Amino acid sequence: MFNNLSEKLDKALHVLKGHGSITEVNVAETLKEVRRALLDADVNFKIAKEFTNRVKEKALGANVLTTLQPGQLMVKIVKDELTELMGGDATGINLSGAPTVILMSGLQGSGKTTFSGKLANFLKSKKTKKPLLVACDVYRPAAVDQLHVVGDQIKVDVYSDKGNTDPVAIAQAGIAHAKENGHNVVIIDTAGRLAVDEAMMTEISNIHTAIQPQETLFVVDSMTGQDAVNTAKAFNDVLNFDGVILTKLDGDTRGGAAISIKSVVNKPIKFIGTGEKMEAIDIFYPSRMADRILGMGDVVSLVERAQEQFDEQEARKLQKKIAKNQFGFDDFLKQIQQIKKMGNMKDLVGMIPGAGKMMKDVDIDDDAFKHIEAIIHSMTVKERTNPAIINASRKKRIGKGSGTSVQQVNQLLKQFDQMSKMMKMMQGGKGKAMMNAMKN
Ligand code: GDP
Repeated sequence: MFNNLSEKLDKALHVLKGHGSITEVNVAETLKEVRRALLDADVNFKIAKEFTNRVKEKALGANVLTTLQPGQLMVKIVKDELTELMGGDATGINLSGAPTVILMSGLQGSGKTTFSGKLANFLKSKKTKKPLLVACDVYRPAAVDQLHVVGDQIKVDVYSDKGNTDPVAIAQAGIAHAKENGHNVVIIDTAGRLAVDEAMMTEISNIHTAIQPQETLFVVDSMTGQDAVNTAKAFNDVLNFDGVILTKLDGDTRGGAAISIKSVVNKPIKFIGTGEKMEAIDIFYPSRMADRILGMGDVVSLVERAQEQFDEQEARKLQKKIAKNQFGFDDFLKQIQQIKKMGNMKDLVGMIPGAGKMMKDVDIDDDAFKHIEAIIHSMTVKERTNPAIINASRKKRIGKGSGTSVQQVNQLLKQFDQMSKMMKMMQGGKGKAMMNAMKN
C-alpha cells in the first residue's frame, strides 16, 4: 500500500535530519519534495499546494516551542495534517431504521458487489445484525448471480427478481422481504456503468428517492487516482451520499484518492477494501492511514485483526493439546488458516512499523503457506496426529502427493518438531519464568 509515496515522503523528510533547527530554507526544500511526492501519488494540485502551505506555517510557527528534533517535528506536523486531510476521526455508519437500508453506488468494476458482501459479513459478525443483500442490477444477469455466490459464501440471504426490469420496484420489494423475514439491515447493490452517464445517474437517484436509505455509500477503486475523485464529485452532486468506500488498497495504489477525496466531496471515507476475500474489509481510520503512509506501520489494526480471528474456546482446547503433547499437523493447519484470514501477507507485513520499508524489495508470496498446506494435505490422518511414524517411504509419498520435494517435507517436519518442543517448554515452568522475566 502506497509504497512509492511512503518512500518519497521518507526521503523528503530526511532532508531535515542533519539540521539543528528548522529554517525557512530547509523547510522550503523539504516541502518542495513533499509536494512532488504528493503530485506523483496523483493528489490534486490544489490540495497538495494547500497541504504544504499549512505544514510550512505550522513548522515555522512551532519552531521555538518544542524540544523535538527538526526531523521529528516535521514528521509529526505532516502526520497531523495528513490525518486532518483524510477526515480527522473515523466515521461509523448509521445503523438506525428498522430495517437499516444501505444503498451502494459506484461505477461498474469499482467493487460494489464484493463490498456489499464484505459489509454484510462484517455486520453479521456483530451478532445483533441479520443482513439481507438485494440485487438491483437489471442489465447484467451475471451481476445478480455474482451476488448470490457472495451470499452463499458468507451465508447471508440474497433477494433478487431476475425478470423484473424496474430497479426501484426490486429495491422496494427487497425491503418488504427484509421486514417479513426479520432482517434488520438491507444492503442494496445497484448497477454500475463503465463511465458516469445520465441514465445511470437518473436510475440511482430514483432508487435513492424511493427508498430513502439511512446510508448511501459511494464505492470507488483507489487505483483510479484523480479519476476516482472526479467520479466521486459527479455521484455526490446527484446523491449527496454519506460516505466513501475505497477499494483495492491492497494493490499498487498511488494513494491520491485516499488523500484527496475527503476534501473534494467533504464526505468521510468509511471503509476500505484490502483484497478480494470477504474478510478484507477495514474501518477507515485517518490517523492509522497517515501512519502507514509515513511508513510507521499500523500496529493497532494488526492487533485488532488478530483479535477478530481469536477464538477463546479454540485457544483453550489448543493449550490442553499442547500440554498433553497432542498438538498435531491438523492443529497446525488450523492455525495457518486463522493467520490467512487476517489478510494477505504483504498487507500484514506493511502494518509492522518499519517492516514495509525494510522488505520493500522482498517478494512476499501472497500464498506463503501454499507448500506447507499441500504437504499437510498429503498426509494421512494418522501421520498428522503422530508425525513420528513418517519414515522415508512415507516422506517420498507425501512429497509426490503435494508436488514438493522430500527436502521440503523434511524441513517442515523438522520445523514442526522444533515448534512442538518450544510450545511444550512455554507451557511448563520455563515458559512462566520467561513470561515473568519479560513483564519485569
Ligand atoms: P462491481 O462491478 O462494482 O460490483 O465490482 P465487483 O465487486 O464485481 O469487483 C470487480 C473486481 O474487483 C472483482 O474481480 C473483485 O474481486 C475485485 N475487487 C473488489 N474489491 C477488491 C479489493 O479490495 N481488492 C482487490 N484486490 N480486488 C477487489
